[in-house]
Amino acid sequence: MQNSCVIVGGGVVGIIAARILAKKYKKIHIVEKSKNIGGLLLSKNYGRDTYFDYGPHIFTLTKIDDLNKKLFGSIENLEKKWLIHDKLFDGNFFLKWNYNSPLIDIRNLPQKLYDKSINQLNEIKSLSFVDDYNSYILKNFGHTLKKEVFDKVIKKIYGNVNYDDLSIKSLKVFGLQRIIAFTSDLTLSLKKKSIYDDRIAYHSFDQDIRNIKYFYPKGMRGIGQWIEDQKKILKKNNVTIHKSQTINKIVSEKGVIKSLILEDGKSIDIDFCLWTIPPALGLRAGNIKFKGNIPKTRSNLIFHLEFDKPLKNKSSTYLWNWDPDFKVFRITLYPNMKKIIESNSSYLTVEVLCDFEEARSINVSQIINELKKLDIVPKGSEVIFNKSELLPSTIPILTKDYEKQTFKLNSILEDSYSNLKTAGRYSGRAWFMNDTLVDLYQILS
Ligand SMILES: Cc1cc2nc3c(=O)[nH]c(=O)nc-3n(C[C@H](O)[C@H](O)[C@H](O)COP(=O)(O)OP(=O)(O)OC[C@H]3O[C@@H](n4cnc5c(N)ncnc54)[C@H](O)[C@@H]3O)c2cc1C
Repeated sequence: MQNSCVIVGGGVVGIIAARILAKKYKKIHIVEKSKNIGGLLLSKNYGRDTYFDYGPHIFTLTKIDDLNKKLFGSIENLEKKWLIHDKLFDGNFFLKWNYNSPLIDIRNLPQKLYDKSINQLNEIKSLSFVDDYNSYILKNFGHTLKKEVFDKVIKKIYGNVNYDDLSIKSLKVFGLQRIIAFTSDLTLSLKKKSIYDDRIAYHSFDQDIRNIKYFYPKGMRGIGQWIEDQKKILKKNNVTIHKSQTINKIVSEKGVIKSLILEDGKSIDIDFCLWTIPPALGLRAGNIKFKGNIPKTRSNLIFHLEFDKPLKNKSSTYLWNWDPDFKVFRITLYPNMKKIIESNSSYLTVEVLCDFEEARSINVSQIINELKKLDIVPKGSEVIFNKSELLPSTIPILTKDYEKQTFKLNSILEDSYSNLKTAGRYSGRAWFMNDTLVDLYQILS
């Protein structure tokens, strides 16, 4: 057994890493810049009965038994601690609502535009697999869908970007490279051909044959409950959490990290370091010179709201709004997420993606009006609680340059120290929770 290991960043990846590494190291440290570990897996109740999350963070089972055990506890007794959703009802709005899929339904386009789009879509005889957003969409969907749908959605997500700069991952990260375009029956038959399968989406959750189950903590405390449970396990594993701290300096000898100096001046001798925060911060702490642009990001403006009348929507766990005419981007509907359908409670969280400077100009009344217009809450309902919070620079703008930079900076950092590995969403290898966790498991095992 080796002596000491430091995990930089106490998000979900840092937490699970600490549990995996506890078998290998006598002493584990997590260094976390916030007052609490968990990153976006956070729930707050502001002194009320209701807990609000920061976006819908829902776990799914992975193919790795040991990882599942760490995520869910006893697999035999899943129902005891977890609400299990057999389907994830995440609908979407683009011109109109489609409550059966998160993916854009182009049948909502005006008839002439729809016909034109379908003609162009059918004219394409072979698929083009390029990394560039512009070429990918033009070659695989045609210019009408690019102009009338994809460019508009991109603008909503990333703001005023130059489409030429974007990587196709900018859409793929949201699964938006597929659209709903035909009738359900025609879709089922077209999807047998790969040329359509790669561009056309199934129509509803019932056609989803992947049989994935979705897990959300039981009880009222939201996803933050999972963090509270993990904290107890970390304590049992003798993991030290250094809160409100970061790494000021990496001390190394011949490419091996010997110790890390924290912001408060404390030094920790280490055998291994897992880096889950932006790689540029590691290069700076190690005084390693690098060239690169600071990645452009979007911020996430959160509105936690409670209304005096029940939600109109009784089934969707969360909803996407891809329509650029609305600020509302994603809505988490807690009564549905927490399966308390009969309740009169009407609380939800709205996420708005915006530029940091733009956040000040978006106010709660605008969001409430949109929720009424979108038919989420009854027209005559009043807000009985509201709290907003800006999470700056949460979403990277996925340009081709960002991908190259992320890869480059992570490689420089890993190549500089033989006892450091990178993981998590800043590693650039994965973004969604389960993907980052599976990637982590593969790195550490
Ligand atoms: C707005 C948004 C919405 C998302 N929605 C979903 C979703 O619906 N489903 C899904 O599966 N995934 C979603 N994701 C992705 C998901 O959040 C990530 O997969 C997951 O958080 C990865 O965990 P992580 O530990 O790598 O990063 P994080 O959770 O970001 O954790 C990083 C940790 O490092 C800490 N930290 C940062 N800087 C420093 C520093 N200098 N020193 C010390 N500590 C530091 C942070 O405070 C944080 O606790 C979303 C992400 C964002 C930004």
